[in-house]
Amino acid sequence: MIPYKHEPLTDFSIEENRQKYLDALKKVESELGKDYPLIVGGERITTEDKIVSYNPANKTEVVGRVSKANKEIAEKAMQVADQTFNTWKKVDPVIRAEILFKAAAIVRRRKFELSAWLTKEAAKPWAQADADIAEGIDFLEYYGRQMLELAKGKPVEELPGTINKYVYIPLGVGVVISPWNFPFAIMVGTTVAAMVTGNTVLLKPASATPVIAYKFMEILEEAGMPPGVVNYIPGSGAEVGDYLVDHPRTRFISFTGSREVGVRINERAAIIHEGQIWIKRVIAEMGGKDAIVVDDAENADLELAAQSIVASAFGFSGQKCSACSRAIIVGDEAYNKVVERVAELTNELVVGDPANPETYVNPVIDAGAFKKITEYIEIGKKEGRLVAGGQYDDSKGYFIHPTVFADVDPNARIMQEEIFGPVLAMTKAKDFDEALEIANNTVYGLTGAVISNNRFHLQKAAEDFHVGNLYFNRGCTAAIVGYQPFGGFNMSGTDSKAGGPDYLLLHMQAKSISETL
Ligand code: GLU
Repeated sequence: MIPYKHEPLTDFSIEENRQKYLDALKKVESELGKDYPLIVGGERITTEDKIVSYNPANKTEVVGRVSKANKEIAEKAMQVADQTFNTWKKVDPVIRAEILFKAAAIVRRRKFELSAWLTKEAAKPWAQADADIAEGIDFLEYYGRQMLELAKGKPVEELPGTINKYVYIPLGVGVVISPWNFPFAIMVGTTVAAMVTGNTVLLKPASATPVIAYKFMEILEEAGMPPGVVNYIPGSGAEVGDYLVDHPRTRFISFTGSREVGVRINERAAIIHEGQIWIKRVIAEMGGKDAIVVDDAENADLELAAQSIVASAFGFSGQKCSACSRAIIVGDEAYNKVVERVAELTNELVVGDPANPETYVNPVIDAGAFKKITEYIEIGKKEGRLVAGGQYDDSKGYFIHPTVFADVDPNARIMQEEIFGPVLAMTKAKDFDEALEIANNTVYGLTGAVISNNRFHLQKAAEDFHVGNLYFNRGCTAAIVGYQPFGGFNMSGTDSKAGGPDYLLLHMQAKSISETL
């Protein structure tokens, strides 16, 4: 087996790659507006009621119409998944892993086309879409290999006169509720982590991005996944989501999304329903209010700081739970220079339709997001000094200019509440210790970065900056599967690390078998 290595990103300065992307966009455009059924036990189910997926850059362009599950279909899917678990759990883990390797190969072959779907369905600019697909490949390759290792079990101490074994077995039916911001990577990662470990899955993808999830279902089928192992049931959270979270046969829930919904799922999942014989497990990846701390002018590379802040704040319009939404800068000199440079770089960013290769800042996902983010921009105008952006326009798509506020109090709303859009708040700290205190002063703890060449300060941050993903002298987004396992502390989730060496274990339980000789 070739050791794991992450999938390289596409170089769009190469003409051939640009042409391939343009061709892929054309192909996808010719396929827009189709209908997609639900998939339960391999069977296609079409409903009257549809989820309509629109292009956020062009509100009237329909990407696809997806059948919408209701409680009856969710119940049927649960029964299918529950039955399929009896056979799937006995399938050799090597075979399960091989389905992932085959799926990775198919995705790799269709990379440009799948990226183009993300450009249309989630408004991902080229490089962001390409990175999303590459990360999906990484999850397939990484978790496949992790499963091969786990299948060997773990050694336990030897006791003369006995044979002792320690093996991992799957849990049962898992409900996977995936987000729209990494509609491919996180949907793939959470789904295949659950299935490769021998569980069966009810996949409820985000309602804004169900088409790309359907494409992945087809890929899993082509790769040899038996019917009923992963079932595709897009639907409303209030109807299908709640029904399945409450269901007595649900064994675990893997959720990625907002803190509000994550906390609600956790509360509901704690209640034992009639006929339920276990305590449900919840794996939740939730929000962030991530900060980049910049040391004083003597200790930090201020150009690197400004570049890292802008890329982390505005990549995919800040719609990442890892995005930098706070910049905390030590001392007057560094603060003034970094604020000025961040404003300058932000003003240079091209806002537009992501189908255009020059676009850096894409429209936000939908009308709800547009409303929420623009409300925060208005709040920001009262809480800080606007130094870049501030304009927005939803006449064609949900366009918001990348927006920067300086001189914001660390306790201000835009410094405390997750906005999930292209809005950055900047503040000054008197020294490095105070900067770390401000950085830790939220309910979240997902990512953070420190720009400093002072070894003692980096050491202090390593100990005291309480985030699941801490980066030095770089931005705070773009974790890579296997190298930077991803997931946060406190209200950012259940402390899991996607793409890490112990992630699969969250989907399994250990069995200890002992024989007396
Ligand atoms: N893993 C992504 C990153 O490191 C963020 C995932 C998310 O926003 O949910 O940027």
